[in-house]
Amino acid sequence: MTAAFQQCIHPDCGARFDTSQILTSCPACGSLLDVCYNWDQVPVPRSLREFEKRWLSRLNPVDFSGVWRFRELLPFATDKQIVTIGEGQTILQKNDLLAGRCGMRPGTLFLQYEGQNPSGSFKDNGMTAASTHAHQVGARMTACASTGNTSASLAIYAGVTGLFRCVVFVGSGRIAYGKLSQALDYGARTIQIRGDFDDALARVRQICSKHPIYLCNSVNPFRLEGQKTIMYRVLEGLGWQVPDWIVVPGGNLGNSSAFGKAFLELKQLGLIDRIPRLAIINARGACTLDRLVNEGGLKWNQGRPSSEQIGQFYTQMDRDQNKASTLASAIEINRPVNLEKALRAIDVCDGIVRSVSDQEIIDARAMIASCGFGCEPASGATIAGVQLLRKQGLIAASDRVVCILTGHQLKDPDLTVAYHSNDSALREKKLGPSGVRETIWSNAPVVVDNDEAAILRAIGIN
Ligand SMILES: *Cc1c(COP(=O)(O)O)cnc(C)c1O
Ligand SMILES: [Zn+2]
Repeated sequence: MTAAFQQCIHPDCGARFDTSQILTSCPACGSLLDVCYNWDQVPVPRSLREFEKRWLSRLNPVDFSGVWRFRELLPFATDKQIVTIGEGQTILQKNDLLAGRCGMRPGTLFLQYEGQNPSGSFKDNGMTAASTHAHQVGARMTACASTGNTSASLAIYAGVTGLFRCVVFVGSGRIAYGKLSQALDYGARTIQIRGDFDDALARVRQICSKHPIYLCNSVNPFRLEGQKTIMYRVLEGLGWQVPDWIVVPGGNLGNSSAFGKAFLELKQLGLIDRIPRLAIINARGACTLDRLVNEGGLKWNQGRPSSEQIGQFYTQMDRDQNKASTLASAIEINRPVNLEKALRAIDVCDGIVRSVSDQEIIDARAMIASCGFGCEPASGATIAGVQLLRKQGLIAASDRVVCILTGHQLKDPDLTVAYHSNDSALREKKLGPSGVRETIWSNAPVVVDNDEAAILRAIGIN
């Protein structure tokens, strides 16, 4: 019926499976799976420009969706099977003010604002695709583990479409209240386990493997197909020109992986002539990829990255009881499930990995906000990364750079208020050591008596 199939990414295995199977790893060897296509059976347009015609037929929900209007590039479902709630109406915007503050020339820095999605994060791009596949295979119950946004996204798809029930697993540590409140509001059965995200994910994977529950984390290869479209919209926003750099925060590395696959496929299909470089930015308190790549020299190695090296790294991490810890809760992940696919993306995109501190993340987040874009801490890692790469001379002032702002400002208002407050106890409580220092972006509310003269003085009118 479709040209799609699932395939194990390991070159020594490469086992293929029908899209009707519900899998999150290769049953033969345990590696990750890709959704692949027989492209000669797909009516792919000869030019990416053709996709712009879909803007004219936006009354059709599958043309309205910012994911499915590119459906020939993720052709695993029929139009009737597609589950969409109008996701992907997101925009690429040039921001010269921010460019200036990062030492870049005007016209070079672009923000892809994924906070505009229905649930307020990029996750909806993936969840529409996972939901579509869940619907295709007749799933009755879905699940995910989440640092917050995945659960908010799955909860909205389950709640609004009524096609399946959903259960979300969150850790007991850091979870932004904006996100938790969404899962509760949209009616997800919310299970808070003792443990962190990595524990919650391991548990939900185990439960889903034993029971008929459809898993929607980014080990689900269909989810990543939806996330490819973020790159299609970026190219569309640039008049189908390829930028020099894509900068993305790295958590479970689903986005990084999806972006690499998107560009690889576009190149293979002859729809682009070059591939941008990818910069994946970790938080220093959750920087497995950075350490493996930059200290360990881990490489994709044509599909054979050293599993001994990865295994040793995790063994040591467990021995040291090293748990992920960062204010950027969306990327507080020490065992990124898409590690291998991210290595492939780095290979495809001549990519690099960097880590930035929480201080740099929260300052960058506030700076982005001061330029008109409200985003959550994890998204701030992108601009912190740009600042670092400018300093290191890897990004030139004239390079065209696209930062993916992954989640909305209002996901995590506690942190923002603490950042701006001059109540040092609050700052320290919410921000830890990173909260101790005030910055030029801090903008504390002024407390005054309800008295005209005092108020005028506070406003600066004498
Ligand atoms: C999920 C998430 C990330 C991490 O993305 P990965 O694809 O897991 O690397 C970053 N930022 C926000 C806001 C997120 O919700
Ligand atoms: Zn395999």
